[in-house]
Amino acid sequence: MSALLTHNLGYPRIGEQRELKKATEAYWKGKISLEGLLQAGRDLRRYNWQKQRAAGIDWIPSNDFSFYDQMLDMSCLLGNVPERFGWQGQTVDLDTLFLVARGVRVVVEKQPQETASMFASEMTKWFDTNYHYIVPEFHAHTRFRLASRHVFDAFEEALRLGIKTKPVLIGPVTYLTLGKVIDDAQHDFNRFDLLGRLIPVYEAILKQLTLLGAEWVQLDEPIVAFDLTAEQRAALISSYTAFKQAAPSLKLLVASYFGKLRDNRKDFFDLPVAALHVDAVRASAEIEDLIASFPSDKILSLGIVDGRNVWLNDFAHSLYLIEKARSALGDICLMLAPSCSLLHVPVTLRSESQIDPDLKRWLAFADEKLEEVQTLRNLLIGKADAAVLEQNQRALASRAKSPRIHNPSVKQRVAAIKASDCSRASAFSQRQKVQRAKLKLSPFPTTTIGSLPQTGEVRQMRARYRSGESTRADYERFIEQRIEASIRFQENVDIDMLVHGEFERNDMVEYFGEQLDGFAFTQSGWVQSYGSRYVKPPIIYGDVSRPQAMTVRWSAYAQSLTDSPVKGMLTGPVTILQWSFVRDDQPRPVTAQQIALAIRDEVLDLEAAGIAAIQIDEPAFREGLPLRKADWDAYLDWAVKAFRLACSGVKDETQIHTHMCYSEFNDIIEAIAALDADVITIETSRSNMELLKAFVAFSYPNEIGPGVYDIHSPRVPSALEMESLIRKAATLLPPENLWVNPDCGLKTRQWEEVRPALTHMVEAAGRLREG
Ligand code: GLN
Ligand code: ZN
Repeated sequence: MSALLTHNLGYPRIGEQRELKKATEAYWKGKISLEGLLQAGRDLRRYNWQKQRAAGIDWIPSNDFSFYDQMLDMSCLLGNVPERFGWQGQTVDLDTLFLVARGVRVVVEKQPQETASMFASEMTKWFDTNYHYIVPEFHAHTRFRLASRHVFDAFEEALRLGIKTKPVLIGPVTYLTLGKVIDDAQHDFNRFDLLGRLIPVYEAILKQLTLLGAEWVQLDEPIVAFDLTAEQRAALISSYTAFKQAAPSLKLLVASYFGKLRDNRKDFFDLPVAALHVDAVRASAEIEDLIASFPSDKILSLGIVDGRNVWLNDFAHSLYLIEKARSALGDICLMLAPSCSLLHVPVTLRSESQIDPDLKRWLAFADEKLEEVQTLRNLLIGKADAAVLEQNQRALASRAKSPRIHNPSVKQRVAAIKASDCSRASAFSQRQKVQRAKLKLSPFPTTTIGSLPQTGEVRQMRARYRSGESTRADYERFIEQRIEASIRFQENVDIDMLVHGEFERNDMVEYFGEQLDGFAFTQSGWVQSYGSRYVKPPIIYGDVSRPQAMTVRWSAYAQSLTDSPVKGMLTGPVTILQWSFVRDDQPRPVTAQQIALAIRDEVLDLEAAGIAAIQIDEPAFREGLPLRKADWDAYLDWAVKAFRLACSGVKDETQIHTHMCYSEFNDIIEAIAALDADVITIETSRSNMELLKAFVAFSYPNEIGPGVYDIHSPRVPSALEMESLIRKAATLLPPENLWVNPDCGLKTRQWEEVRPALTHMVEAAGRLREG
């Protein structure tokens, strides 16, 4: 080992070919045994550790693997399983863990209060990523205890393979901050009151790891990139002071990532631990200053390779920074690493045989990023050839100049955008009148969010078409049949505003990206979104434009089959941007404007084809928020403008819907209102309409559909339960503005669940209409 060490903060757990998804879903369906699932986990971990060892990484993480989510694992490790799951055992088993994440499958016809006991825990986005974690729940009486062995087992498992790993835990302050207090009874309860109960469990974990022979433990505290309260600052120092006393021989590395430290620098630097990790990519503006002021008694882990994006590292720039750190701190006090866990990037470029070779030269996925870390180290210690550096710089120069990236006509169109392009012709109250006259919907109109179950048959057919096994004509005929069946189904159930079902879409961003210029796609570039749901984010590498209509064919076909209105279904510019890997060579707002113009063209084409309502989904609107409040206004300003640019070209009578899910709205409600969508549908069922409060407090003026059906669970809610949710909403908001709909799209559900659930939903709306 050279003095200059390398490490990794976390490795993608999903497998190169989505092995984890396949095994987990097979287990849920009863197709493999628990032992089969556990074995799949062991195989993945072994393979991942061995790959990292082969790459030459000195400190390889363990406990970064999870069957569902690392926050949920942490809750299980700490024995924090919500009471309603009835867990009483010693250690939390995997089935209980899945139960917390997914709820129970039962058709409940009883009282809503009773069904509440079956609810899955809430899920929310991990910082500004598209990864979702299961939210820990806290009460005044929450007690913690060591209730899982997975962190120890993983450490020992790696040890048997000859690898001494660095176990990874979520730090206590981040864990407490990201949880949710659900104790209505005790208003003065403060989650940090729990710290005193939490610390001893962490201490026990650290002691046990010491006994097992661990040398390093990584504690993730990404919360230090947030605005911190005095309480959080105090909790940081008291936690780590306690840990140092409890496990004095263990070297603790506290990891910050996803942002600058700013005013938290002193709190972070003062932590009594062996090493501190900083994200040199997201904190690039302050990194030189951080290096210059870094405490001399600690090791700096420099997160030099971008763990959030897929572009090739600029070795010249990285070497410049690392040299600064070396001369300030010395090799002994420096470690090199990716900027954050590699969970957020695809596993490897190796299997990508179809990606354009030019573009491929400009990219790096998890495996390549670890190689970059290693190469940087080798360049510094004289073990790599200077030719490696030259090659890297040549690839970057070719990207900067490439005509594939720069399209003058797109740049001109962006430069010509006027303020009036971002405003509807009339105010909402006027539009609402003409839309009501045109659409003639019943009160409490029912609709769904867009996708209907993506059955195996649908997925197979798409795959066959993609691989050339079936002809375009056959494929289109098949999709038309699915659309027709879905229209008939919705008519039978008596839904008011229909959808075509999105059968032609693999993913709501990929589908559009594939048809837009400036986007590239991978074959296996999957990234975990939540649980066994992975997405394959497109790579926006160049100026974006729309060569031809993308969805009109299917929406127009669906509309031709029925007299009920069929909603056009598009993904909004902010979400497309947010769920893609974006260019790092142009500001994000400019890329957003380019995408918005392409969507605007599509909106106008749909309108011209006779589509009376168009939904522009922006589920990622909130996750784009900067971590620091000081940066919010700038983001909200360009994000709102991009949405409005996309939708404002239509006539008053065309109803613009938007949809958002899994976010809190309280602090962005003004921006949500500024979107000026005629209808917004949101997810509210899991929180029992809690999320609606923001709209109530703001007197949200436009129409709104608060979700009444939790689509992440196989559970079928009863009509009574949905009715009571809408009744609750109707006490809070003007009933004439309310829509009735599920929380989100139904693509991941089965028809056996969707049929009864939507029938119940329409029944519930019917009962409301009766008064
Ligand atoms: N229209 C999309 C669907 O129904 C929306 C999905 C989402 O919000 N993530 O699938
Ligand atoms: Zn949604």
